[in-house]
Formats: sequence, C-alpha cells, structure tokens
Amino acid sequence: MAGIRIAVVGAGIIGCLVARELAAREPHATIAVLDRDAIGSGASRRSAGLHLPRGATERLRAMTRYSQDYYDRLRRERPTLPIHATAVSVVSATADDRAVRETYLAGAEPVRAQHPDLPAVGIPADASVWRVSGGHHTVVQDLTCALARELRSRVDFREGVAVTAVRPGSGGVLLRLSTGDTLTADRVVLAPGPWTADPALAPFVAPSGARVKKVVALHIERSPAPTDGAIVFQDDDAFLLPLPERGHWLYSFTRTEWDVDPGTVARGLSAEDVEEARGTLRRWAPALVEHAGSGRVFCDAYSPGREPVVDVVDDGGRVVFAGAANGCGYRLAPAIAREAADLVLGVVG
Ligand SMILES: Cc1cc2nc3c(=O)[nH]c(=O)nc-3n(C[C@H](O)[C@H](O)[C@H](O)COP(=O)(O)OP(=O)(O)OC[C@H]3O[C@@H](n4cnc5c(N)ncnc54)[C@H](O)[C@@H]3O)c2cc1C
Repeated sequence: MAGIRIAVVGAGIIGCLVARELAAREPHATIAVLDRDAIGSGASRRSAGLHLPRGATERLRAMTRYSQDYYDRLRRERPTLPIHATAVSVVSATADDRAVRETYLAGAEPVRAQHPDLPAVGIPADASVWRVSGGHHTVVQDLTCALARELRSRVDFREGVAVTAVRPGSGGVLLRLSTGDTLTADRVVLAPGPWTADPALAPFVAPSGARVKKVVALHIERSPAPTDGAIVFQDDDAFLLPLPERGHWLYSFTRTEWDVDPGTVARGLSAEDVEEARGTLRRWAPALVEHAGSGRVFCDAYSPGREPVVDVVDDGGRVVFAGAANGCGYRLAPAIAREAADLVLGVVG
C-alpha cells in the first residue's frame, strides 16, 4: 500500500478526521483533502458541538463509545484543543428509568437527581431528572481547523477547490476540479455533509437513500454560569446547552422540514422555525421563550436507518461515502473515520 494516493472530498469534521486516520495508519500514502469552501465551513460551522454518551442502537452505542474515547484521548494529549467536559442532566417525562438506561452508555452511569436545580426549567411532578457523565462540548469549526492545521505538513489541503466530476476507472479515480485541474487517486472518500445532491457526487451518494433535513437551534440571550451544564429533554430529542465562549445558551430541537438545499437554507430563520422551537421550549422552560428570538439554521444528511452510512459506492471498490450522520456527525466522526479508513485500506488491490 506504500505510495497509495487518496483523495477526501469535503473538509468538515468528518473529512478531516478521515484524513487524520488515514495519515496515521498509512504513513507513506499521498493524501489530499479538497473543499469548495474553507475548512470546517459547512454543517460543522453551524454545529452545536454537543457530545452525548448515548445511542439508540447497538451500532450507535459502539460508535459513541469509540468516539468518546477518541475525543477524551485528544483532550488529554492536547489540552489546548477546544474540547470541554460538560455536566449533562437528562429530563425524562416519566419516573421510569428504562428509556434513559437503555439509551445511554453503561459508562455514563445515569444517576437520578433527587433535588434537581436546573436554571429556568420547570420539572413536572411525574418527570425525573438523571445525571450522566461523559458529555462534552466543542466549537466544531475551531476543532476542525486546529486538527487540519496539525495535519497540513502531511496532507495536501486544497480549499476553494470544488470537485466537479468523479470518474472511477481501472487505473484510479479521476477527479475533475473547479480550477480546471484534474487529480487521480487510487481511492476517494466522499464526505460532503449535506451536499448529497451535488451533481458530481449524487450518482454515488443517492443510492444510500440519504435525505437532507433542516436543523435549527435558537440562541437564548441569557448568560450561562460557569457551573451550568447541558439539559437534555429525552422525550423531545431537544436540549439546552450553555455556550460560555459566546456568552449565551442554545436550544436545539427537532425540526421536521425535509429535502432542503444547503445552498439556500441558511438564508435566515423562518417564522415557522422560531414558532416550532418556541412551542417545544415553552413546555419545559417558558421563562426562556422571550429571550429566544435568534439562532442558527442549516441542515444535515439523514439516512433511512438513522445510522451513519460508511460504504463503498462504486463497482470497482475505489470510492467510499462517509456521512449521513443524522444530526450527530460531530460526536460520531471518529468512529465514521475509522470505518471509512478500514474500507479504503481494506479494499486496496
Ligand atoms: C445547527 C446544527 C447543530 C448541530 N448540532 C450537533 C451536535 O450538537 N452534535 C453533533 O454531533 N452534531 C451536530 N450537528 C451535526 C453535525 O454538525 C454534522 O453532522 C457534521 O458537521 C457533518 O460533518 P461533515 O464533515 O460530514 O459535513 P460538513 O461540515 O458539511 O462538511 C462537508 C464539506 O464538504 C464540502 N463539499 C461538498 N461538496 C463538495 C464538492 N463537490 N467539492 C468539494 N467540496 C465539497 C463542503 O463545502 C463542506 O465543507 C449539528 C448540525 C447543525 C446544522
């Protein structure tokens, strides 16, 4: 495999971690990462960056466990990286502990809080609050750029360079670039985030059934205290997250607008975005609603099975798609990168 040429399309958190994994495992490989924009400027730029130690399926829990260990190791080895442990409280609509215990990793050790003190959140009498360990928060774009900076002497990062065609053949995969250049690689990893309908990539990505959903989070203009942690509303798949580096809270909730275009969806929050978000926020923290009038809007790719897709997507086994992480692409990125590298290096002929 010495001298294998690998191209990664997309320099978001997933593409950068794929490049990092490949560089570590294949020291003599030539690796290029191409992005039509700047590093970390897609979904990764808008991400809330919350890692929760949970997963709805066995595969997701295994990916979560691996990714959590990976980020913990990074944090220990490079304390200057922007990865910060955060306390996590999980609010469940019932006192039944099954849903929480089944979803969270065994190591997260859910413990029921007897006298929960959550800022501005009203806890209904029949609800329960659980403390779980292992959560953290990052500014995903900053982390992506920091990791890319470390890789730069080893990996050829080409920003502002779009891939306009992908042509697998017997001698490798020919990539046509927006600059008019071409690049031939032995293996290609497509990590396009929500740009699954990009004409150059769609023939490879569309068969996965990935669809693009709007993702919205409101900013709540209240200053977090240093001791504040994330508050997860288990039954709504929503959370409140303190963002001390920005001086406000964030409220993430599940927005159900499908098949949006990443090129146009970020033009601003719509009245429906704000109304839907406030509707669920009102249920748990009515006092915060009046402070929630702005936020961030973008989108992410979702798979039919709600597990990330990491798969070979051409007949010759040279092109791998890694993505459709269902709004969890930050926290699962290390495990996605490992699976992608396994495929890239395992199929080398
Ligand atoms: C508001 C919001 C909140 C979120 N909160 C969380 C959270 O708390 N925790 C969590 O785990 N996840 C969260 N997510 C999801 C997470 O941010 C994404 O799953 C993750 O960033 C996807 O990373 P990526 O590298 O696949 O995609 P991206 O970061 O979008 O990167 C893809 C890159 O590919 C490039 N590209 C696309 N097509 C081409 C082409 N043809 N040629 C060259 N380059 C191309 C794009 O320019 C882009 O830079 C959130 C997402 C949003 C929008």
